[in-house]
Order: sequence, then structure tokens, then C-alpha cells
Amino acid sequence: MHEWALAESVIKAAVEHAGAEKIKTLKEAGVVFGELQALDKEIFIFALEELRKQFPGAKACRFRIIKEPAAFLCKACSHKFLLKGLEKTMDEAEFIHFVPEMAHTFLKCPKCKSPDFEIAAGRGVSISYIKGAK
Ligand SMILES: [Zn+2]
Repeated sequence: MHEWALAESVIKAAVEHAGAEKIKTLKEAGVVFGELQALDKEIFIFALEELRKQFPGAKACRFRIIKEPAAFLCKACSHKFLLKGLEKTMDEAEFIHFVPEMAHTFLKCPKCKSPDFEIAAGRGVSISYIKGAK
């Protein structure tokens, strides 16, 4: 049910954002969806479409999902690398998607082989842009 709570806060943020820009009717909102986000994307989109009905300004808003690939920053050598291409097997990759903390067990910096890295992108959900009519 986390998807519904998150969808609601995304719509609320979009409506607030629209208010700040004097937009009365939201037409489109870009929602960045991190690759490591442990959420069901289909449920999230469904929740967005259902919940927008409760917000007069967002009723007609189309939510465009923008996938953000996971990126890691090595703490040892500052090398930035992506999850894509580093996945050893599909099973492990799936596992990493659901439990980002487990990435450290499976991944190493491709440059210096250090397992000490932080997740630089791909964890969150945020609004990238909004479009609408004033
Ligand atoms: Zn490194």
C-alpha cells in the first residue's frame, strides 16, 4: 500500500507546485521513478490515476514516468558507475532492485574494486516538471 501513499504525496506536490506557478489546471507532470525504488510501478501509476480525481486541479493531469537509472559513487576513488552492465545474474539484479542496501553485497567499484560506495541516483521518486494552463 506504500504506492498509494506515495502517489498521493506526488499529486499533492504537483498541485502545490502548480499553485506556486499560478497554474490552475495541470495537464502533465513528469515523475522521476528511481530504478532502485522498491515499488510496484504498475500499482503506482494506477494509484496516480485514481487519486488525481480527488484533486480538482489535477483531474486531467497525465503523469509521465521518467525512469532514473541507478548510479553509484565510489567512496574510495570517486568513480561514478551505473547498475546497468554490472549485473551478474538476473536474480541478483532483481534482488538489488528490491533491497538497495544489498547492492553492497553484489557490487564492487569497476575501477578500484572497492565495495565502499554510496547510491548516487535511482532511489527516489520526485517531480521533474509540470505543465498546465493558467
Ligand atoms: Zn573505486
